[in-house]
Amino acid sequence: MVSRKYVTVIGLEVHVQLKTNSKLFCPCSSDYIGAKPNSNVCPVCLGLPGTLPVLNKKAVELALKMSCAIGGNIQKESRFHRKNYFYPDLPKAYQISQYDRPISFGGKIPIRTADGKKFIGITRLHLEEDAGKLVHATSDGRLHGFSSSYVDYNRAGVPLIEIVSEPQISTPEEAKEYVLALRKLVRYLGVSDGDMESGSMRVDANISMNEEGQPLGVKVEVKNMNSLRALQRALEYEQKRQMEILSSGGVIIQETRHWDDVRGITVSSRSKEEAHDYRYFPDPDLPLLVVSEDLIEKMAKSIPELPWEKKERYLFEFSMSEEEAEILTSQRELAQYFEEVLASGAPVKPLVNWMKTEVIRSNKEGKFDFNNPEINPQALAKLVKFLDEGKISNTAAKDVWLVMLDNKVGLEEAMEKAGVTLGGLSAEKLESIVSKVLDQNQDVVKEILEGKDTKGKKIKFLMGLVMRETRGQAKPQNVEEMLRSKLHG
Ligand SMILES: [Zn+2]
Repeated sequence: MVSRKYVTVIGLEVHVQLKTNSKLFCPCSSDYIGAKPNSNVCPVCLGLPGTLPVLNKKAVELALKMSCAIGGNIQKESRFHRKNYFYPDLPKAYQISQYDRPISFGGKIPIRTADGKKFIGITRLHLEEDAGKLVHATSDGRLHGFSSSYVDYNRAGVPLIEIVSEPQISTPEEAKEYVLALRKLVRYLGVSDGDMESGSMRVDANISMNEEGQPLGVKVEVKNMNSLRALQRALEYEQKRQMEILSSGGVIIQETRHWDDVRGITVSSRSKEEAHDYRYFPDPDLPLLVVSEDLIEKMAKSIPELPWEKKERYLFEFSMSEEEAEILTSQRELAQYFEEVLASGAPVKPLVNWMKTEVIRSNKEGKFDFNNPEINPQALAKLVKFLDEGKISNTAAKDVWLVMLDNKVGLEEAMEKAGVTLGGLSAEKLESIVSKVLDQNQDVVKEILEGKDTKGKKIKFLMGLVMRETRGQAKPQNVEEMLRSKLHG
């Protein structure tokens, strides 16, 4: 049998919850996480008769900001439609969304791939409101076999933007990179938390496969992926499933499939025959959304240096590696701190090393907050300078850094507390440490003197102890010399 080569085509629809205080069409709080069920609701978002929606200006601004950042073609007039369907999480029995006239068309987002940079085109970006949440009374929270369900409307009416990509994503890995790039972008812009786990960013995927050179295959929609890992796993599973069907002569059914993270498979949930007819029509309660040239310009001006622009600049300006530039631009606040330390006189190379190791580690350990740095840029700049000039060792610098963090003290005080002096250890200090180590390891000393250290392992052991005691401030050869002279002296 001739083995055929298949191509994967993936398009993503990403819903991003906008960072606004209130909902899209009413003044209710949009903070639904942790709130008492059905406490942030009003007649508007509950869809009671006689109420009228009023559009949230902040949500429009954030949608415009995002459109500007991706280079979308912003529509001066866009329209809200009603998307009708019946489901208990939708109190009005329709969702207000944008249909044929979204707020923007087009744009693109650069991603990293194995072959270098690639642009993923954006089809459209539109505003819509979120639905409520069903809570199923099962121990494992899964949809199957539940005995009863509850509904919480706190999320109903929360503002979202939906960003639809062109089907230009070729692998599950690229899909992950695209979502990462998007997440970084919304966080840089302050448009959203972009958190997949808590649901402020949700991703649905369309995936199809076709033989190379042949027309596009039948696409399958995959839903219910609640993390980046789940997205990648679901797409890898679906790729394998479709390839097996196609290569054995079968046909792919156009359907929606749910990712089951526990079982690691996708499960069919709706085929095309039962697909909804949403009966879209313009919402008669909402006028055309008209945005002025001034507002668009204001939003465009509010955009900071974008993550991929910053990365390019770091690569060029500081000769960083791809990896380093990626790490240092991963969060806007981290990059900002880096630039402040740099401006305070730190040399670039050692600072980059320090940032990608110590600063990142301390942040992961919860000791260092990029938003509110515990250590002022001047102090770190000085510390890195000392390190670069060889005035203190790397181990000593780490000690000082940790003392600054743990005790919330300045550089000088931290150096004193850590017993670190510029220029390393004095000979007297080293001598007293060597004596102490020899005293505490009489048995090893005895063996060396009896000539049992033919491989030199025991003397290395003592050296290690001395080095540790000096926090790396002494030169190894000085330590060895002093050890030998004391042992045999
Ligand atoms: Zn409300």
